[in-house]
Amino acid sequence: MTKKQKKMLVRILAAAALLVALHFVPSEGAARFVLYMIPYLIVGWDILLKAGKGIKNRQMFDECFLMAVATVGAVALAVYTGSGDYTEAVAVMLFYQVGEWFQSYAVGKSRRNISALMDIRPDYAHIERDGRLETVDPDEVAVGTVIVVQPGEKVPIDGIILEGRSTLDTAALTGESLPRDVAAGDEALSGCINMSGLLKIRTTKEFGESTVSKILDLVENASSRKSKSEDFISKFARIYTPAVCLAALALAFVPPLAQLLILQAAPGWETWIYRALTFLVISCPCALVISIPLSFFAGIGGASRAGVLVKGSNYLETLSKTKIVVFDKTGTLTQGAFAVSGIHHSRLKDEKLLEYAALAESASSHPISKSLQRACGKELDRSRVRDIREISGQGVTAVVDGRSVAAGNDKLMASLGVAPIPCRGAGTVIHMAIDGQYMGHILISDVVKPTAGQAVAALRAAGVRKTVMLTGDGKKAADQVAAELGLDETYSELLPADKVEKVEALLAEKPAGAALAFVGDGINDAPVLSRADIGIAMGALGADAAIEAADVVLMDDDPLKIAKAIRISQKCLAIVYQNIVFAIGVKLLCLALGAFGYADMWLAIFADVGVMVLAVLNAIRALWVKNL
Ligand code: ADP
Ligand code: MG
Repeated sequence: MTKKQKKMLVRILAAAALLVALHFVPSEGAARFVLYMIPYLIVGWDILLKAGKGIKNRQMFDECFLMAVATVGAVALAVYTGSGDYTEAVAVMLFYQVGEWFQSYAVGKSRRNISALMDIRPDYAHIERDGRLETVDPDEVAVGTVIVVQPGEKVPIDGIILEGRSTLDTAALTGESLPRDVAAGDEALSGCINMSGLLKIRTTKEFGESTVSKILDLVENASSRKSKSEDFISKFARIYTPAVCLAALALAFVPPLAQLLILQAAPGWETWIYRALTFLVISCPCALVISIPLSFFAGIGGASRAGVLVKGSNYLETLSKTKIVVFDKTGTLTQGAFAVSGIHHSRLKDEKLLEYAALAESASSHPISKSLQRACGKELDRSRVRDIREISGQGVTAVVDGRSVAAGNDKLMASLGVAPIPCRGAGTVIHMAIDGQYMGHILISDVVKPTAGQAVAALRAAGVRKTVMLTGDGKKAADQVAAELGLDETYSELLPADKVEKVEALLAEKPAGAALAFVGDGINDAPVLSRADIGIAMGALGADAAIEAADVVLMDDDPLKIAKAIRISQKCLAIVYQNIVFAIGVKLLCLALGAFGYADMWLAIFADVGVMVLAVLNAIRALWVKNL
């Protein structure tokens, strides 16, 4: 509980106790009025003040205004009729404040839940200087510095482990509870917790560019991107409140005037004014106004616990309508960790060819190039390489030992005017040309991610009608993966621009109201990620560009999480609609009852606070989506 909430609670309890006490103290006239005004002002002074400010600024149609008018009106009526029944006005204010208190508590709680979960911001980094550990601000650590992370500490900045072995707890980043064993040479992502051994890490990024900063940025900005439902509610409130006030005015004056003028009877002013005031209390739209953003907030929080970062409520809404899922192949459905399965037609020694390939690839971050460097197994002397050019979706060219080397697919060979010898094996083929001469090819193969097949099936179960794979790889490798996973359509040998075109064609033919999601690792597919209705990126292996271009980031690269994300969004949206229908339904019912005199202010305030409490509880349900 915050200080503010504690203060409010004290006011509520004090006013309630006073109100009960006054019930047993007989009083009359002006003394009674003064006595009852004490609890009324204790609990409601801030509402009256806010209503007054609203009137002064000509922005009066809010909940405070409704409450102030209704309660002041009820007090005035009690004075006018001499009934001295002030309890109702005080109680209305009291319950309204109980509702407000509960709401602020619930919002605070879900916010704290999310920030606790996002409690991954490292406060410091350790660097070793002259044999002593020095604590510095992570912001001040330059790329390439060696930092020391002791057991129990968070890894503050992304880097490569130089020394030590340990297990890293990645739960905060990926929702994955299984700790990961790491040793020298492995990557350490910031935000992980070092569980067992001392690690020395050479940083590869600045703090601001590190995974942890990116994630925090994402989460902090998520609630600023409003969904259509949220927009609807704020527009709704803008016309709703003035409309209700007008209706209340009409209710107060039209029937009595009609009695007076048409029926020539005595007008029942008190009855109708009381009904109008009740009507105002009933009409307070709190439940709706609070529960919808709260549901989205909780949904985004729940998703991030599961390792799925959604960048805004609008994306959560679109995600729930996903009917077509388009995948990239390498790194998305497959692990992107290729093993060399053969070297054919080589005009050099096999190791030599592999070494040339690895050297030419030494600057690329493509999974293929990383795999070739690994397969080469030697420390690469980068000074032997210059003029590296990477051609998206084709391969690389570079000058190695003064000879111009090209490594890539058929397209690359064609552009160089070299005729490649086709490969009969299954897998991805890297053709090699040196000084314009064909030198043979390296056949590499990738494995499908263990959960990829399940992921496709789970998507169908979540309502996805079509699954498509787009890849820059050759037809053979593509068809093999597609058949293994049971995808509906496959398109191969695409350049990044072709992928955009294909996605645009799919977008054009999709049914209205359906959304298309593209899932990629961000290497060569950032443009498609932003072109799709919803871009989903692999966050751990994926490139930074992907995390930026995407709307949803899967922290552990598990394709099974796509279906999970969709189910979370569907559940969240269902909760939003339940709340809208429930809140508006109960409101309309009470309004009708109030207008015909079947509801008094007590029922009105109970209905309002009750609906709000239920709606908020329902909204919070969206946080518990982890086990969907
Ligand atoms: P995918 O669509 O499967 O993710 P990409 O678009 O990244 O694949 O690459 C498509 C094809 O381009 C690869 O299968 C490979 O033949 C070639 N290619 C791309 N980058 C490289 C590289 N760095 N080295 C060699 N070949 C590459
Ligand atoms: Mg790719």
